[in-house]
Amino acid sequence: MAIEQIKTAEISELLRKQITDFEKKVDVSEIGVTTYVGDGVAKIYGLDNAMSSELLEFPNNVVGMVLNLEEDAVGAVLFGEDKLVKEGDIVKRTGKIMVTPVGEAMIGRVVDAIGRPIDGKGPIHTTETRKVEVVAPGIIKRQPVSAPLQTGLKAIDAMIPIGRGQRELIIGDRQIGKTAILIDTIINQKGGDVICIYCSVGQRRPAVVRLVNTLEKYGAMEHTIVVVATASEPAPMQYIAPYVACAMGEYFRDKGRDAFIGYDDLTKQAYAYRQLSLLLRRPPAREAYPGDVFYLHSRLLERACKLSNEEGGGSLTAIPVIETQAGDISGYIPTNVISITDGQIFLESELFYGGVRPAINVGLSVSRVGGAAQIKAMKQIAGMLRLDLAQYRELAAFAQFASDLDKATRLQLERGIRMVELLKQDECVPMPADEQIMLIFAGTQGFLDDVPIEAIKAFEEGFLRYIRAEKQDLKKEIMAKKTIDDDMRNKITEAVTTFKKTFQP
Ligand code: ATP
Ligand code: MG
Repeated sequence: MAIEQIKTAEISELLRKQITDFEKKVDVSEIGVTTYVGDGVAKIYGLDNAMSSELLEFPNNVVGMVLNLEEDAVGAVLFGEDKLVKEGDIVKRTGKIMVTPVGEAMIGRVVDAIGRPIDGKGPIHTTETRKVEVVAPGIIKRQPVSAPLQTGLKAIDAMIPIGRGQRELIIGDRQIGKTAILIDTIINQKGGDVICIYCSVGQRRPAVVRLVNTLEKYGAMEHTIVVVATASEPAPMQYIAPYVACAMGEYFRDKGRDAFIGYDDLTKQAYAYRQLSLLLRRPPAREAYPGDVFYLHSRLLERACKLSNEEGGGSLTAIPVIETQAGDISGYIPTNVISITDGQIFLESELFYGGVRPAINVGLSVSRVGGAAQIKAMKQIAGMLRLDLAQYRELAAFAQFASDLDKATRLQLERGIRMVELLKQDECVPMPADEQIMLIFAGTQGFLDDVPIEAIKAFEEGFLRYIRAEKQDLKKEIMAKKTIDDDMRNKITEAVTTFKKTFQP
């Protein structure tokens, strides 16, 4: 009895092995059948050997990508019309993973989530492609950030400096200037050596059109690629767009150049991913996101880095945007992305509606690595500014209730109010580093202490006009030396005091 049992087991083992070998010969595992199609996803029976992220061929030229590997089925997302695919359709493996066109020819163009032009300017002439999903460069291939990525925004360049190759998060509620920071940063790269990529996910089409028009108006499309998956596009497009944009940026990074990507925003990408995951019946975890939503963002942002000199020394800087609800940064997605990035710029509604724009909460904002890359002269004059301002805010809240304040406290408050005023900045007028340095010098060295608060803006405008007209040499010298020695200190002091004499508030 016992012997027979063993025999049966052996036979069935043998048969199964033959069947598997047989299957291999006719490649049955390379073909499957759809068992479910809808809402941009498909379930496929068969395709035993399919790999994660592999491309699949559906009828009518619809392409899918493997997202779920289950015991007896494969879950895929569909790029293209899911109406063209029916249940029972044959699906083929391709053995390939998704690629996107990349290269110089992409610059100046607006493309969709898989790199096809949508700006009506004809085909993009490039032969190069890159894989959409790749493993980020390892630690050996990297080096610490060393060059600044100037945003042109005084508040950021002075207090939360960003280095080339860094990942800095912009986080805040709806409609308080998150996108504006990215746009300013892109405009500020005009005439410089940084290629910019703006990746729009889940925004309404008119908003994207407006944004591209703004970039065009300021001549910023000349060094920019815009990758768009609007809110009305299927979830798979919104899911993949950031990876495609990243691959386009890596092309420049790996050529030893500097690239910058703004992901606007990753909250919407996470929504799209959650939608796809739920449709594929993945078990929902916290906030109904699938368990691997951290990996969705970490593997994307890891690809931003400063490469070592042996690897060409190129860089890819990433500024993802995350939207919060009522300023709550303790949600699942916000905490994930905060932990993945090297710091965050936290925008606050209260500040925005109080007229402090950009609405940066200096107490909660930080750049953990960018300090090493900051222009030395800026570090010299603004090194303490972030702490001073955070302190000022606490003090101001407290001082509301105090009747008589000592002189030092009053001075600190007066200085704080003026610095807040000085760091305000309109949209689309990024400021060169030398002008920022002179202006902040005037503030931190106390030259504005006796200027009325209402006159700070006028002072700034007048002073900028003055140095642009009279102090071109000094501007150039600051940028050449990039550090403030005694001689430079005297020259800037002289410029500020000379202008101040003529200034009528
Ligand atoms: P959304 O959540 O819709 O993406 P957002 O946080 O990206 O919004 P923006 O679209 O950048 O915000 O800006 C919202 C509004 O605030 C816009 O009308 C913009 O013109 C204005 N705004 C942004 N920054 C400034 C600024 N520095 N000065 C004046 N207005 C600004
Ligand atoms: Mg926005």
